[in-house]
Amino acid sequence: MLKINNLHAEVDGKPILKGVDLTINAGEIHAIMGPNGAGKSTLSYVLAGRPGYEVTEGSATLDGEDLLALEPHERAAAGLFLGFQYPVEIPGVSNLQFLRTALNAQRKSRGEAELSGGEFLKVARAQADGLGLNMDMLKRPVNVGFSGGEKKRNEMVQMGIIDPKLAILDETDSGLDIDALRVIGEGINRIMRTPEKGVLLITHYQRLLDYVQPHFVHVLAAGRIVRSGGPELALELEREGYGAIAA
Ligand code: ADP
Ligand code: MG
Ligand code: MG
Repeated sequence: MLKINNLHAEVDGKPILKGVDLTINAGEIHAIMGPNGAGKSTLSYVLAGRPGYEVTEGSATLDGEDLLALEPHERAAAGLFLGFQYPVEIPGVSNLQFLRTALNAQRKSRGEAELSGGEFLKVARAQADGLGLNMDMLKRPVNVGFSGGEKKRNEMVQMGIIDPKLAILDETDSGLDIDALRVIGEGINRIMRTPEKGVLLITHYQRLLDYVQPHFVHVLAAGRIVRSGGPELALELEREGYGAIAA
């Protein structure tokens, strides 16, 4: 599904990614762990097409399509979803407006019929219920005045409505209390743990992986994947720290 080959990228002329190789097949959940400043967020931004992140070498394809040649909205239409460490607030635009516009734009680009207001509300209500987010929250401006936990739940509601093929979730667990972590973890499993989908979970901590069991765990250090293994690698990192592995 996702194939990253020898990916190099720089920000402001500073090399950050220095040859990342990663393959995610349909049905697989991968976790990337690693110390602060390793390039984890940079990798997610490069894949999503954030301006200012320049690829200098290598490739990334989604189902064989050259991801790096697409505009950010085309990447989303191709099935890529990026969850942010710090979800943005959008004053003046309600969650429901925002999500209906996003969903219908994607459906249109895939040649599918747009959803009517009623049809969309049904989809939105099902996802909000699943994440324990009150529908009244979805009528409010995007993330404005939301607590950290509510923003993350809202992001999972977005993911459920958009129903992406591949989700890259950057520190979705940061700032969550234990109950919120469980709800978010269950949401990820419910929406994304299917034979057709793939997930890249970026996290500092093993905690989230108790709820979302990954098939593979990778360590990113200084812009490269320096080690890969199964779920036991996350436990080893939690015990021994990055120092021994990333040195
Ligand atoms: P991680 O998510 O693993 O903590 P990041 O990808 O955020 O790491 O950052 C990797 C490196 O790139 C850091 O040294 C950081 O300072 C640098 N970096 C990231 N974004 C920018 C930017 N917009 N301008 C300058 N340096 C950046
Ligand atoms: Mg960081
Ligand atoms: Mg980061």
